[in-house]
Amino acid sequence: MRVLVTGGAGYIGSHMVKLLGERSIDTLTYDNLSTGNKWAVLHGDLVVADLADKDTLRGVVKAFRPDAVIHFAASIVVPESVKDPLKYYRNNTANTLNLIEILKELAVKKMVFSSTASVYGIPEKSPIAETEPMRPINPYGTSKMVTELVLKDLSLADKDFNYVSLRYFNVAGSDDKCRIGQAYKESTHLITRALKAAKGEFQKLEIFGVDYPTPDGTCIRDYIHVDDLADAHIRALEYLGEGGKSEVFNCGYGHGYSVKEVIAVVKKVTGVDFHVEEAQRREGDPPVVVADSAKIRRELVWKPSYDDLEYIVRTAWEWEKTKDRMSGGK
Ligand code: UDP
Repeated sequence: MRVLVTGGAGYIGSHMVKLLGERSIDTLTYDNLSTGNKWAVLHGDLVVADLADKDTLRGVVKAFRPDAVIHFAASIVVPESVKDPLKYYRNNTANTLNLIEILKELAVKKMVFSSTASVYGIPEKSPIAETEPMRPINPYGTSKMVTELVLKDLSLADKDFNYVSLRYFNVAGSDDKCRIGQAYKESTHLITRALKAAKGEFQKLEIFGVDYPTPDGTCIRDYIHVDDLADAHIRALEYLGEGGKSEVFNCGYGHGYSVKEVIAVVKKVTGVDFHVEEAQRREGDPPVVVADSAKIRRELVWKPSYDDLEYIVRTAWEWEKTKDRMSGGK
């Protein structure tokens, strides 16, 4: 089995490449290093190039002849997508179209796609199942939804082309050996920001809204460890390898934690009582986003190993403390 991983030098992609390496699967990473890092690619070769560069991409696919592609490469910052939507439609939608066209041209028939719970927008139900409509509320979510629709139409037109779209919930945590992790400096995510507050990089952590209709008034999210998420991709590859048809799966544990609960765990794990301030709601935050993960557990026989917020925070904390040593922290 040969797997091309786009975005394999990024946070989630690098955990995927690590796992493919542990399974001795022949892997090639294609990444423009806009947010990824060379040192994060622990297995196989790295081609530094952009998906917009169709000639390079075609040459790489032709030479490597992958059986499947796992497509992570994307822009992922929601507020940035609101300010610069074209960047998101270019990087996430148009560049994916480039990739798919080349896969079609070169008869690569299997793909695993990184989608997101953001395609649901503000969920009306919790936990949320894959059958709920896609109603994204920002260009990031829309750019991923459109790509899902393109994949669906292509697989209807070409019965031999099959994909698995994985809708990620809140991905966090790091490699237990602390070799890779969330290295993007501008991260807006709660766990990373809370750890930076514990480290003293931020003077305080703000809670964005304490008047939500939840038990403690703060938003609830389904936090999933990045290694469990990578394992879901392995299951998806196996499923496609066994002739599985195109499918969409949620990737979350099926239960959530409030912002206040996450902060309590971060304080416990780090032993630092950093300053926390209650602040205004952040625009576009749904009160509760929790996956119904029954489908992936049943159909891909996905059995998560790290459904434990303390473990997630502990691995992220170990990484946060060591990452500055890696090539100046970039
Ligand atoms: N959040 C917060 N303070 C922060 C960062 C995030 O209160 O400094 C909240 C945010 O409003 C949301 C939750 O934490 O309710 C998770 O946010 P994150 O950006 O990690 O993920 P999202 O669910 O938005 O993808």
